[in-house]
Amino acid sequence: MQSRDLVRKAVWSVIYLLFILAPLFALLTGTLPPARNFGTEFSVALGYSGLAMMGLQFGLTARFRHVTEPWGEDVIYHFHRRVSLLAVSLVVAHPLILFAIRSDKVAMPGSLLEVPWGAWFAFLSIGSVIVLVITALWRKQLKIRYELWHLSHIGLALVAIFGGVLHMIGWGFYLTDPFKRTLWICMTAFWVALLLYVRLFKPLFMIRRPYRIAEVRAERGDTTTLVMQPDGHAGFRFKPGQFGWLNVWGSPFRITGHPFSFSSSAEAANGRVEMTIRNLGDFTSQVKTIETGRRVYLDGPYGAFTIGHPTDMHVLIAGGIGITPMMSMIRSLADRGDQRPLVLLYSGKTWDSLTFREELDALKARLDLRIVYVLSDPPEGWSGEVGRIDAAMFRRHLPPEFADHEYFICGPDSMMDAIETALGEMKVPRIRYHSERYSFV
Ligand SMILES: Cc1cc2nc3c(=O)[nH]c(=O)nc-3n(C[C@H](O)[C@H](O)[C@H](O)COP(=O)(O)OP(=O)(O)OC[C@H]3O[C@@H](n4cnc5c(N)ncnc54)[C@H](O)[C@@H]3O)c2cc1C
Repeated sequence: MQSRDLVRKAVWSVIYLLFILAPLFALLTGTLPPARNFGTEFSVALGYSGLAMMGLQFGLTARFRHVTEPWGEDVIYHFHRRVSLLAVSLVVAHPLILFAIRSDKVAMPGSLLEVPWGAWFAFLSIGSVIVLVITALWRKQLKIRYELWHLSHIGLALVAIFGGVLHMIGWGFYLTDPFKRTLWICMTAFWVALLLYVRLFKPLFMIRRPYRIAEVRAERGDTTTLVMQPDGHAGFRFKPGQFGWLNVWGSPFRITGHPFSFSSSAEAANGRVEMTIRNLGDFTSQVKTIETGRRVYLDGPYGAFTIGHPTDMHVLIAGGIGITPMMSMIRSLADRGDQRPLVLLYSGKTWDSLTFREELDALKARLDLRIVYVLSDPPEGWSGEVGRIDAAMFRRHLPPEFADHEYFICGPDSMMDAIETALGEMKVPRIRYHSERYSFV
């Protein structure tokens, strides 16, 4: 890992911690309310921290390129999930501790009408947080469509946060001081601004920078390539291996963008970009019906999965449609006349399903590229590799300085897990391999 990336990671981590902790410490400055027992104060601190963490989630998912780049978008999304669970645990622990210690703050009123309004907002906030977590963890089991889930996720998060802030203001124990009240209101405004940036300003920017479908190309393996040309602007430059969010039907304001790696060369002329999409669900099954000339929107580039140091052997490991970022790397290196040694281990079900097979074989003439095809359902007479890519297969095809190569892995989750384990067994240090996971959610 480059030291520049390490510094950026450290700086963003410190900023993140500051945003979480500073509002909490600010509560302890100025005029303080009379001290209560430890359990009550501790539970209140948990509530405030949990809320600050929840609010900052809007920042984690705002796709700020400079923030996400040192880690990669998938790592940020997984962090978002983990932090959400921690934040929700803190928020839920807050009333549970108060109940457990029978704090007078949660003494049961005689009737519902006597429940103070600040408490109603606490119920609302915690209720939404619980529904939010259940639907996020078990969306597939609950058979909730991705788009519907995404919309409800944002709605529930807003209710949880506003409910939490109104609860704090309603209770007002630590927020009697106008400065503290203003601080928390400004924080809430900042969280909402993050959301507005993603859902309003960014789409407005994208609407002025549309793309046109220049070609729709059928590929092997029930897969389609969309060739897109910027319409009235220069487009953007991307690094081979990065991805973008594609919005085909509907304006950029609709929450229907899908993430796809760029499969074309980063050196392509006139801002042209290609995405190669396998038919795997609702949206992807419709891609082959897209007509040329259609206006589409692209948000990108994103991701940290890109070619490494020029003197290292690059081992590209692709499973199924995980070939797309590798294809962009290979095409870009060919266009750049880059002769670094490349080994591509490309696994697929059948020989006929291997997308880009012919072009890959042709590109060998322009590169120092060796390809190992691995089939799970080989044709009769197949003499190549069969089954799963594992440590033994690496040993058969790679020079033995395993820890010196750089590895790039993209494919189904189970394959990626197995390969990361195999590289661990081969004593390849973690910083020498890079993974792009296609399952954010
Ligand atoms: C960084 C990245 C790069 C990718 N690159 C490619 C590529 O080059 N080629 C390719 O064919 N596929 C790629 N994918 C996978 C692709 O995004 C999904 O297959 C596609 O979004 C599925 O949509 P669907 O409606 O057809 O399938 P569905 O059956 O509706 O969904 C299948 C699963 O895909 C996920 N998904 C659905 N919609 C979205 C969305 N809007 N955003 C995020 N996830 C969603 C959900 O987990 C869902 O359960 C990539 C994914 C990621 C995260």
